[in-house]
Amino acid sequence: MPSSARQPPLPAFEVRLTAPDLKPWLSGNAGVPGFHTREGRGAGPHVVVLAAMHGNEIAGAIVLDRLLRAGLRPLRGRLTLGFANIDAYARFDPRQPTLSRFVDEDLNRVWDPAVLDGPRQSAELARARAMRPLIDTADVLLDLHSMLWPSDPLLLCGAAPQGRALAAGIGTPALVVADEGHLGGRRVIDYPRFLEGGRAATLAEAGQHWRPETVAVALDCVAGLLRHLGMAADDDPALPPPPAQPPAQRFARVTELVTAATASFAFVREFRGGEVVPERNTLIALDGEREVRTAHDDCLLVMPSLRPSRGHTAVRLARFEEG
Ligand SMILES: [Zn+2]
Repeated sequence: MPSSARQPPLPAFEVRLTAPDLKPWLSGNAGVPGFHTREGRGAGPHVVVLAAMHGNEIAGAIVLDRLLRAGLRPLRGRLTLGFANIDAYARFDPRQPTLSRFVDEDLNRVWDPAVLDGPRQSAELARARAMRPLIDTADVLLDLHSMLWPSDPLLLCGAAPQGRALAAGIGTPALVVADEGHLGGRRVIDYPRFLEGGRAATLAEAGQHWRPETVAVALDCVAGLLRHLGMAADDDPALPPPPAQPPAQRFARVTELVTAATASFAFVREFRGGEVVPERNTLIALDGEREVRTAHDDCLLVMPSLRPSRGHTAVRLARFEEG
């Protein structure tokens, strides 16, 4: 999809993180390049933590690199740490940090069995097909992401109730959003395996791509997950300590996916992800001639994309639910 000629160019995003060299981890030990499995002493679930599903999201890669170096080992079960889009990641250039999201297509839109089993070929489909046998053994999956635009961190837990329960167990960050995913294709958390049985998956959007605090949030998510599942002690030296006071989580469900229908989609101001618009029927954007308004009071803006190209998600609107 061509980007709009009428929209202003992207601002220059400062890259305050250094992408770790993944060479030591590329061979892996789990039958999939870039994937490392470590076994605990007792029986337990197989937990998979993914990073770099998008090649320019280096914060999650920093977390996995750090945990591997620290020798993190689960108390029970199996823990696999996997760098997902290693080819796109290898192209990361801090001078042009937005360009290495993928090679041919978004690796997090191909997790539909019909697509994976189908005839289509791309760098990302080849990678997903290589990852799939391992994903097919996961009981719990956490996919570490980060965001381009300013936003409060959040967990996206998909539409299934077990994703929501998993997010609650992880306990951080403070915002959990249930959604049906994208029109453009299934994410790994939408892969059917995680919608059935006792299995579950969630996606952490830990903050802006290239900021140190995003690394800290992603690390807290991994620690929260492993402690929730009884796979890490509170004093594990590889992990940050548990929070003295866990955040009070709020849960919201996406009510509307706003897709930019024109090349001139523009928000009325630069909204921040996590902002709540108090009044229903508030104008938030113009999409050509079309007005985009909030459909209900206390409308949560999920990850507004301030320069959406035509046909892409501009923002998701969500409603808070109790308990
Ligand atoms: Zn991402």
